[in-house]
Amino acid sequence: MDGYEVDLLAFGSHPDDIEIACGGTIAKFVREGYSVAVVDMSLGELGTRGTPEDRLKEAEEAKKVLGIKFRENLKLPDGFTSPTKETILETIRVLRKYRPKMVLFSANFERHPDHEALNSIVRRAMFLSGLRKLQTFEDGIPQEPWRIRKMYCYMQSYQFPKEPSFYVDITDVYETKLQAIKCYVSQVFVEGKSNPNEPTTRLSRPDFFVELEARARYFGTLVGVKYAEAFLSIEPIGISSLSKLL
Ligand SMILES: [Zn+2]
Repeated sequence: MDGYEVDLLAFGSHPDDIEIACGGTIAKFVREGYSVAVVDMSLGELGTRGTPEDRLKEAEEAKKVLGIKFRENLKLPDGFTSPTKETILETIRVLRKYRPKMVLFSANFERHPDHEALNSIVRRAMFLSGLRKLQTFEDGIPQEPWRIRKMYCYMQSYQFPKEPSFYVDITDVYETKLQAIKCYVSQVFVEGKSNPNEPTTRLSRPDFFVELEARARYFGTLVGVKYAEAFLSIEPIGISSLSKLL
């Protein structure tokens, strides 16, 4: 067996990135019967609140809430993730292992340097993963090349530098998205559960959820639904028939 053959592989720089940026889209995709793997690049060990152990445990809980099939952490250095040969080879290894039909990752214009680096790492790995002469191994066994072109960026701190390519209606899974985010008790405000003695961050303020909702509502209004998440496609999107837009 070559790998797991999931429908979607989502890369996040830190545990909780995926839930915040595209948790609704993932929950809905899973609800429709599609399989999802998530690869977190680091443990978020530089995060102001919580410990790497907390975050790993929280990521496991969020995995269950969203119905993610596989989740692994590459344990790259938080804050210093960069497109080195080793990092790109690790990313190719997981691409060839999970053999996804599409990939989600950060945009190339982002506040956190790890997010921008992730864009560069995944772009390079996506190209190189298809090259037969580039060898990678999983558990000592040589991997087959894997080539796909469907790669979409989710939105994080910054708006995309251009109009999103599409919006996903997450209205009926918005509560599930919130539930997944609230697994990260060390990072976000959860009544009665968060530690009030740790320093306050942007995420740990109760207002973070107001901001999250405001953005989802705004994107929703653009496409005539209550809540939506925005995506930017790297390549032009072709559809097989106009009927797909019915
Ligand atoms: Zn992040």
